[in-house]
Amino acid sequence: MRTIKIFIFTTLLFTASITIAQTKDPVVESIVKEATENSQLEKLAHELVDMIGPRLVGTPQMKQSHDWAIAKYNSWAITARNEKWGEWRGWERGVSHIDMVYPRIKSLEGTQLAWSPSTGGKNITAETIIIADVADSLSFLQWLPSVKGKFVLISMNQPTGRPDYNWEEFGTKESVEKMKKDRTEQREAWTKRISKTGLTSRTLAAALENAGAVGIIMSNWSNGFGVNKIFGANTKKIPTVDIALEDYGLLYRLTESGQRPKISVRADSKELGTVPTFNTIAEIKGTETPNEYVMLSAHFDSWDGGTGATDNATGTLVMMEAMRILKKVYPNPKRTILVGHWGSEEQGLNGSRAFVEDHPEIIKNIQALFNQDNGTGRVVNLSGQGFLHSYDFLGRWLTKVPTAIRQPIVTNFPGTPGGGGSDYASFVAAGVPAFSLSSISWSYGSYTWHTNRDTYDKIVFDDVRSNAILTAILAYMASEDPAITSREKIVLPVNARTGEPGTWPKQTPPTRKGGIN
Ligand SMILES: [Zn+2]
Repeated sequence: MRTIKIFIFTTLLFTASITIAQTKDPVVESIVKEATENSQLEKLAHELVDMIGPRLVGTPQMKQSHDWAIAKYNSWAITARNEKWGEWRGWERGVSHIDMVYPRIKSLEGTQLAWSPSTGGKNITAETIIIADVADSLSFLQWLPSVKGKFVLISMNQPTGRPDYNWEEFGTKESVEKMKKDRTEQREAWTKRISKTGLTSRTLAAALENAGAVGIIMSNWSNGFGVNKIFGANTKKIPTVDIALEDYGLLYRLTESGQRPKISVRADSKELGTVPTFNTIAEIKGTETPNEYVMLSAHFDSWDGGTGATDNATGTLVMMEAMRILKKVYPNPKRTILVGHWGSEEQGLNGSRAFVEDHPEIIKNIQALFNQDNGTGRVVNLSGQGFLHSYDFLGRWLTKVPTAIRQPIVTNFPGTPGGGGSDYASFVAAGVPAFSLSSISWSYGSYTWHTNRDTYDKIVFDDVRSNAILTAILAYMASEDPAITSREKIVLPVNARTGEPGTWPKQTPPTRKGGIN
């Protein structure tokens, strides 16, 4: 309710000032025309998402993406370079095949987690066992030998594979309440079951592995139909496999009822030693004040259960398309326009944090930075990130954005500084006026974010196109602005819990050597 009120208020405010301010600008018109009539988004998406695929840090596909971006920029006569900022464990995903072979044959939907050890080019066939509900860590140690030679199921069996919205649409009030209550109890019991082992999710995997288990089977449901989140493995010798809720439930029920199901797993992968990690930086040189910068920003890496289409190929495409358009219709910007395609955002904003550390001369001269990284949707939120005068300059720049794109954007000035979540935070921490172009959801959290369903078909190209137009216009306006943007920060409110004065987020060093231990 409160959101709606704010929305109406800011929209009206903007409309009023815009009718006066908006005049025809040939550059803005050319941006819209180029983005609409000569869009490269579908082609870029196909090449990046379908042909190269997911972009997990340390994989050959990540490096291939950096090289692809350089080639694209060069083909548009934009200079670009890969900047090495660190090293990571090199790993390449191969096939994952998982079949139930007893008591009946069924191919199961699932995949090995990132960095999972392989099965050595073989199929491993074995029975399944559910992690036991023991009294304490001592009884867990007594039970532990029973995992030898078995695949261990370590996730709770979800009581329903229907998302809550589906229950709420069709269920009776009583059955919905009952389902939620039962599920909460079951979750609490499961958390307790794991904690009674005396181990964490990380150390549990190691303990099972050392006790002779042949693989770890889990299911990280994402609360939507058919969707699982796929992160990284904690095992060092045996594979860790995520199985879709539907098939995991089947295995769990058969194991629980004493049917002694058997599965056959083949997981291929290659260890590639230590490999360098990069950011791709491209630039259109400024003609008047080349040492002042407007920066576009989006992380390039992804998790690899899907193809990282909405996290963050779409943000990447927005920035690439905006650069392509700017080079074509605004080839001689006043300030230098830079774009950063960051590596290893997913492991802690590492590429952007490294850039901030490595380029103090750029950091102190960034006029504004625009980052996009929360899905395929059109931008609907823009916060001033705690910069006191953000309303002045962002408000002024937004007046040039076509009404249909500008009007749905709920602004929040001066806002509060973001401490994380995506790469703009690396810059905000360094005092740079850096902003997040925040998208409408399109069920990002439950359906695409870090899931096996983050694929090309989820891209909403009209929204991505609209974001490319918005970004190109904001970059153009930030470049042309006669004034240098103010970096004055708001006084942060007192922390209600501690009573201490609020403090600006601190700059954090990147992990320069990752995945190796
Ligand atoms: Zn992301």
